[in-house]
Amino acid sequence: DASEFLERDKVEALRETLFGEHSALQVFLKGNSEKTGNAWLNSFQNFLQKGNVLENMNSLYNQAEHENNHGLADKHEQVWKLLLSNLMEFKSIFSEQKMKVLEFLDLILSGLKNAKYRQIPANVDVVNVKDYELVEARTNKYIYAIGLSLTNFPKVKQNSSLLSDEERASINQNVSHDDFRFIEQLNVTNSSKNTFTSLSLINAATDKLVLSTPQIYANVQDEISPLLQLFIKHTKAGENIKREISSVNLLETVEHIGNKRSLISNIGKIEHLLAQEEEKVENDKRNFWSSLFRILVKESSDFQSLIHNLDQDIAPVALAADTVKEVYSDEIYASVSSFERFYKCEYQYFLEKTLNLEIFENIDLNSKVVGNFFHEVFEKLLLSPSLTSENFDQHLERVLQEVDNNYARYFTQDATAQFTWANLGEIVKQTAVILKKGLENSQIKTLSTEGAFGFPHSELGEFTIDKISLRGRIDRIDQFFENSVGAVDYKSSQHKFDLVSAYDGTSLQFLTYLDVLKQTAENQKLWGALYLQLKNESINLSDVNSLGEIAALLSKNMRYEGLILEEYRDKISEEINLVNINRNNVYSEREFESLLELNKKHYIRAGQRIRAGEIAINPVMTKEGIDKTGNVHGCRYCPLKSICRFEANRHMKDYTREVGQKSRKEILDELKGEKS
Ligand code: SF4
Repeated sequence: DASEFLERDKVEALRETLFGEHSALQVFLKGNSEKTGNAWLNSFQNFLQKGNVLENMNSLYNQAEHENNHGLADKHEQVWKLLLSNLMEFKSIFSEQKMKVLEFLDLILSGLKNAKYRQIPANVDVVNVKDYELVEARTNKYIYAIGLSLTNFPKVKQNSSLLSDEERASINQNVSHDDFRFIEQLNVTNSSKNTFTSLSLINAATDKLVLSTPQIYANVQDEISPLLQLFIKHTKAGENIKREISSVNLLETVEHIGNKRSLISNIGKIEHLLAQEEEKVENDKRNFWSSLFRILVKESSDFQSLIHNLDQDIAPVALAADTVKEVYSDEIYASVSSFERFYKCEYQYFLEKTLNLEIFENIDLNSKVVGNFFHEVFEKLLLSPSLTSENFDQHLERVLQEVDNNYARYFTQDATAQFTWANLGEIVKQTAVILKKGLENSQIKTLSTEGAFGFPHSELGEFTIDKISLRGRIDRIDQFFENSVGAVDYKSSQHKFDLVSAYDGTSLQFLTYLDVLKQTAENQKLWGALYLQLKNESINLSDVNSLGEIAALLSKNMRYEGLILEEYRDKISEEINLVNINRNNVYSEREFESLLELNKKHYIRAGQRIRAGEIAINPVMTKEGIDKTGNVHGCRYCPLKSICRFEANRHMKDYTREVGQKSRKEILDELKGEKS
């Protein structure tokens, strides 16, 4: 193609200028003789100037600035500065040393290769922090002078030298003359220096000056500095001066105190915010943060793995068949509560119940210890062979003392534990009121306490559904009217039987207990199951006329709540009279049977999923969606977030299981339909 050769002359001329015999490069490279470092530097400088390197660097920089590409301009500037500092270093070390051209170039090249480039773009604002006394007029666009309290503004230097102010004054009087002061008098210089510094401060900013004084500093409330007052007083209306008082917000102050852990968590939050705001917005801070992250990652391996992990999304896979065989046998042995966990989030079940991950627990007063304490007290109390309503209080005192001794190591650790101990005693005494009433009632007979099933030698035997052997303990089994049994469960918080939770699988306990009782007490009917809330309720004194009424009011507030079979509703209400009967939780025989069937199906379905290795990350979510703590319902108290990496705002749509979608009526209709 002829056009290829059209510009040949121009190309030739360019080649001649760049690489020709008389080009700056050839002049620099000519000869193979040894020269001193200084001589090489001179030749190199010639090359930079005559070879237009300096000129080109300048034009690259100016062009980038002109295009508002400050990042690129900064890069050019950095490269040039680095080259110069390299040459300076070379000069200080090798100026007298003789070398050939290749050695010289090798040294400069290795210097450039090892140079460190700045990571933060120059267009990020830089804050200079200076001592107040070093302030100069018109140094920056924005100046923030902080801490201008009475003691700091103006700064009065104390004389801590050997000579007092008076002694200095008298020395000066004797040896100084008009133009010469022999020794500095701090009280004199203070005032002239202060005037100068405060004037410099007032003129320090070219755009905006902020003078700030703390209301409280180091827990002391200081007066406003007279200088500041002077400025305020001379502020004329219409002048471009704004006064602002921000109240002290201690919480906010604490928020800014950080540690590595909080920094990591903040970085996580920032990263997610950036990920959410996909499109570019004005004042995009992305560059700033990514520069910062780069530095952090370089400095610390913790940040490295953190930021690396943040980029990875969750991607559940089913367990391989071999793994399933390894971790689950065909027969599954599990507690009732572990299946409730399964239905709250399958992955949580997998981590806690299959991999047996445990949170490291200190020996302290946690809810488990408190729960065990209550159970032990009530078990021992109700097992006392000679217990009657008459000797109830003595027995209670004795049992409390006995159990207290066993738990003393938990309860005597610190003042908080001791307070909890006293409180637990109160709770036991208040709750015992209802147990005492039970003893007085001839229609109630406690058949067993802490009755176990599914453990070796359990009194209630085995309980198996579709090769799933379940285990559990029923706090109390009570017989009513000599012909029917039911379960009582102690709870430290308020509980009601919730049909919707039973339908969703998150509440399996009651129905399973009743199924166990149905299987073991064949010649007995079932009356239902009840919760007893252990509580130490406070009483409003305005609700009672005399202190004597308190006991009656307390015992009135202590009631059982739960699930009752229709057949026993009236009898329980009339003859037991210790139960709050909610008509929504009264079930006919047929409804009850359907509920037991539904409960069984939950276990069967869970067993199938487990055996198939299908473990989903699927925390339950209620209609509320994300709650105030930023979690969906299932994750609220889950300690495994850092392992599963589920984040409500990010994964809610794809991974949660929505519960509570059906009303009570819809569920009952569905159960009836199934039954028929
Ligand atoms: S944090 Fe939520 S998703 Fe993760 S294991 Fe716990 S319950 Fe499941």
